[in-house]
Order: sequence, then C-alpha cells, then structure tokens
Amino acid sequence: MFLLFGTRPALTLLVVVTFLCDYCGQTVAQHVYKKTNKFTLFFVPLFSFSKSYFVECSNCGGATALTEAQAHRSMRTAGGTPDPHDR
Ligand SMILES: [Zn+2]
Repeated sequence: MFLLFGTRPALTLLVVVTFLCDYCGQTVAQHVYKKTNKFTLFFVPLFSFSKSYFVECSNCGGATALTEAQAHRSMRTAGGTPDPHDR
C-alpha cells in the first residue's frame, strides 16, 4: 500500500482596487490575491495549512505582500466583505 500526498497552491482574486503603484508610478488596477497552500491526498485537496496575501499591479506585475488585515481593509474599501470562513 502506498500513500500519494503533496501540496497544491491556490490563488483567489479577492478584489480589484485602483491606486498609485510604487513600482511603475501609474494609477492603475491592483489585484489583491489570497494564496493558500492545500494538503492533498491522492490529488484531492483536503485542507489549507498556510495562506498569505499580496497585491499585484496590473500594469507592471510588481507584487507586494499584505497582512490579512490590509487585505480585508482593501475589500471593505472596495465595497466587498471578507469571507467569513477566511480565518
Ligand atoms: Zn505597477
């Protein structure tokens, strides 16, 4: 008998906000993402064991890490609500 296990990253687009990019100096859409790593067993994702947030510029692709609070604040600013299951 053998077990086939591993991890799989997943990106979720939380919100798109517009502000001045620190990298390219343009005021363009910035995509706020949540990245989760999921434990898989026989390629079936079972649970998330880590997550991180970052914002990526749509113009230059420059990415900056965010805290969970910053990501949720950007969602509230854009009129969205944070996912209640996102802990
Ligand atoms: Zn940029």
